[in-house]
Amino acid sequence: HNHIDHATPELVQQAIAADDTHAHIPDYEDFAAYSAAGGYDALRDLRAGAKTPDQVQDDILASGLRGLGGAGFPSGRKWSFVRAESGPRYLAVNGDEGEPGTFKDRYYLERIPHAFLEGMLIAAWAVDAEKCFIYMRDEYPAVLEILAREIAALERSGVVDAGYIDLRRGAGAYICGEESAMIESIEGKRGLPRHRPPFVAQVGIFNRPTLVHNVETLHWVSKICREGPECLNSTELNGRVGLRSYSVSGRVKNAGVHLLPAGSTITDIIAAAGGMMDGHQFKAYQPGGPSSGILPAHMNDIPLDFDTLQPHGTFIGSAAVVILSDQDSAKEAALNMLRFFEDESCGQCTPCRVGCSKAVQLMQADTWDTDLLEELSSVMVDASICGLGQAAPNPIRLTIKHFADEVSS
Ligand code: SF4
Repeated sequence: HNHIDHATPELVQQAIAADDTHAHIPDYEDFAAYSAAGGYDALRDLRAGAKTPDQVQDDILASGLRGLGGAGFPSGRKWSFVRAESGPRYLAVNGDEGEPGTFKDRYYLERIPHAFLEGMLIAAWAVDAEKCFIYMRDEYPAVLEILAREIAALERSGVVDAGYIDLRRGAGAYICGEESAMIESIEGKRGLPRHRPPFVAQVGIFNRPTLVHNVETLHWVSKICREGPECLNSTELNGRVGLRSYSVSGRVKNAGVHLLPAGSTITDIIAAAGGMMDGHQFKAYQPGGPSSGILPAHMNDIPLDFDTLQPHGTFIGSAAVVILSDQDSAKEAALNMLRFFEDESCGQCTPCRVGCSKAVQLMQADTWDTDLLEELSSVMVDASICGLGQAAPNPIRLTIKHFADEVSS
């Protein structure tokens, strides 16, 4: 289940070369092309003393960059927490992009992987990290090969010492995208989320202070260092500042990653995705992964950003937007989401392990016992150890609230 390979870039390359079923490698910007266009100049200048870590941290704060794996924590503040702890410190990249409907990290890694790699090395410089671990989703074979090649190129060119970047393969467990479970997995253990506090910034990999960032967050770190905080904070829409990479799928003409202002509404997102598929009427949407549940089409004027969905009982998460039409059932979609959580619950705590499976049983009925489902949801929210169990009731609660006609007889 949580099998861990201690995979050096060479081992990953050998494993992929030995597997003739591996994915087609898309055209991407390699080390030579990225460097020729000024890539790694920012890192080189910083290492030479052009700015202090404090100054770069201020740039990151000024840009408004927040954790794009879904938690939305201000990235610059995370740096200050890790820097406040004594070394040795580590950096871990969460590349276990497992939230259904999310594919933005893959999108960037298959095109411009060095924007991410340079951002990672800048963050590692800022917190003086001893080593970087990249925990990458094994379902992305092309990404693994690209990273193995490009890390080798970084080593050959002397940008990093051999072994400084440790590429690890995930093993398909959704819960290993939860940062503390990912750290357990990197340590070679089963991926069970830890209790907090202590936070991973203080007690992370092998009990050392650890800076954990999502892939896309680091992609923006290098852009901010190269282009200034304005590359994010100069965009404003509906009172929200910055950009979001929405992974859009479902009943739209052009599914894919759409980079839009952070204040975009679902109407803007559907328009950017080419509109609804022919013959489909917009009915409902998942704003940010299954943990965010489903909202009805008439709630179409909410900017889909961090913080703005909380009053509506949900959140943007990793910005995995799924569009449902009049041909889809909100009730079936919610049941599907809970089946996913039931499968992926790590089983460590009872409210989530038993709660998810009870919820699935109750949601299979023609008519939902909404009182019982609400009570079960409260227990799961209050008593689960990690975000999986705490957020799993969102699809239940939102479906009861907004699609009452589908769940009552
Ligand atoms: Fe595991 Fe679920 Fe408990 Fe999280 S909430 S620790 S996934 S059982």
